[in-house]
Amino acid sequence: MKPSATARDVDAVLNVIEAIGLRAHAMPGATRTAIGITGNQGPIDGRRFESLAGVAEVIRVTKPYKLITLDLRPEKTVVRVNGATIGGGELAIIAGPCAIENREQAFAVAEAVQQSGARFFRGGVWKPRSSPYAFQGLGEDGWEIMCEIREAFGLNIVTEALEPPHVDLIEKYGDVIQIGARNMQNFSLLRRAGRSKLPVLLKRGMAATLEEWLLAAEYIMAEGNYNVILCERGVRTFAQHPRNTLDLAAVPAIRRISHLPVIVDPSHGTGSAYLVTPLARAGVAVGADGLMIEVHNKPELALSDGAQALRPSQYAQLIAEVRAIRDATALHASGRQVENGSEHIQVDALAHR
Ligand code: PEP
Ligand code: MN
Repeated sequence: MKPSATARDVDAVLNVIEAIGLRAHAMPGATRTAIGITGNQGPIDGRRFESLAGVAEVIRVTKPYKLITLDLRPEKTVVRVNGATIGGGELAIIAGPCAIENREQAFAVAEAVQQSGARFFRGGVWKPRSSPYAFQGLGEDGWEIMCEIREAFGLNIVTEALEPPHVDLIEKYGDVIQIGARNMQNFSLLRRAGRSKLPVLLKRGMAATLEEWLLAAEYIMAEGNYNVILCERGVRTFAQHPRNTLDLAAVPAIRRISHLPVIVDPSHGTGSAYLVTPLARAGVAVGADGLMIEVHNKPELALSDGAQALRPSQYAQLIAEVRAIRDATALHASGRQVENGSEHIQVDALAHR
């Protein structure tokens, strides 16, 4: 739409799109509103829109994605959760245990997370385990503990949904829906999350290409939920020293295609506590919008992912280091644009302070 287009002009275009049986996605930006169209099986004649009031141009999108792209929205998406942001000026920290195990453990970790200045507490209530005999999470009982933590520490709750009905409970008690690596292409789950009002943290599948991952995000957005956070958590390669190979090149590679925020999970990305801090530093240095870190008060007793859990003191040290790196690099891109395939970075030095 033209910068001068009124809200009424935008509504009129949305109505025409819906009236011909397609889906309209309005994306307000700093200078103009873009309207994405989905639901068409093939090309549609865009000329019918050109004469509507306020329309600047009709752009045919020939890429496989329509909504995640910078073509639709040149400014970065900032996901807002109860006053905290992901993708904005601040480095978002999502930390907590792999799984909620009991009240004492969850509270001890939440205290460390709060003290670090992080705004998001993660913890699995349902766990997707390779073995059916391994700890599967506390299930609904875990929510009682989660609710107390949310209340006591004022942290936003991030939890993984394994199936569509889990989303109902996260909507009731939590703040961010996590979709795990194993479910990145669980399309009914993606669609359900896409119909939620809560932001969705979408982890990369362990063998997913960038395109597959971005198309999974597209599934969520196509349902109308534009608050998607991408999380690089490593892919499987022939390397045997880490559990997965953390693909840090994904961060700038996504940045040149998509407006969505990208965070890095060096815990699942490496599988070993000694690798977490070095890779967290690197993740921030390549421009991640945030980190997801697993923390446990007694890693040696953890019921899942103990080998990669940091102790609270190690976690506190990590946070101090990555904040310093963030300040030193200050390449957190409020003003990145891709023109003709080359990236122009406006360094808005230390603006987040
Ligand atoms: C997790 O975050 O605890 C988890 C299971 O991660 P992933 O889906 O990346 O394996
Ligand atoms: Mn885990």
